Amino acid sequence: MLLRISKIILYDEPTVLEIQLEKLEKFLRDTFPIQIEIRDNFFRNLNDEIYKKIASTRIFDIKKPFQKHNASMEDILIEKENTDTSEKEEMALYDGIELHKIISEQIPKEENNIDILNIVFTNKLTCTFDENDFRYHARALIGSNPTIISTTGIIEAPAKPKQYYLDLMTDFSKEGIDTIKKKYEGEFLEYHDSRISEAIEGYLLQAIMYYETGEAFCTDKECRLYNAHWQKELISTQLKNKKFCDKHKEILKKLT
Ligand SMILES: [Zn+2]
Repeated sequence: MLLRISKIILYDEPTVLEIQLEKLEKFLRDTFPIQIEIRDNFFRNLNDEIYKKIASTRIFDIKKPFQKHNASMEDILIEKENTDTSEKEEMALYDGIELHKIISEQIPKEENNIDILNIVFTNKLTCTFDENDFRYHARALIGSNPTIISTTGIIEAPAKPKQYYLDLMTDFSKEGIDTIKKKYEGEFLEYHDSRISEAIEGYLLQAIMYYETGEAFCTDKECRLYNAHWQKELISTQLKNKKFCDKHKEILKKLT
């Protein structure tokens, strides 16, 4: 087995200061014999037509399959300025598959190669429509090459403890919410959480291994390639345990 990838290009998300790109670069270098290049934000300096296209992938009804949104000037401006809406009342949601198409088209031709893996960090919350329960779900990871890693998705996609939501339902006051948040502190990732960069390492591994092996995720809950559905699982696989299962340990060894 040989690595297909010889180079990874990481596109920064400057609105999320917790992403430590140099550390991530070192982590990747220490794990794979691959050249790493760090770039500015992918969504910088695109033309207005592209910003309009991106804005048109926004979702307004999570219970309906994708319908192209008619973007307003204000929507386009949000894209142009790369505004982080993740903590706002009206958090913008995007159809991850549609957004992925647009990003793919914008990858420079000479870098649209099988041996170059493009990874785009974004604050945009990417979602995919699930035909089984007929609604959109937040996703942290979209696509293979390019791969989109949504930092908002890392916080929003894996669920928080059920009891946390129940507690919130019984107390809507500002003080109540603060007390509840305090009670669950550390149990899940929050915005501006310093642990986000470490969690990203796991998603990078998943993106690379998926691209290399064509196999998405591992079924072993102890493995770093496990698709965490709960924040608890994310924290245990990526922050505490940080290990691969035997099968993936072997594959990784062969690849590198
Ligand atoms: Zn595994």
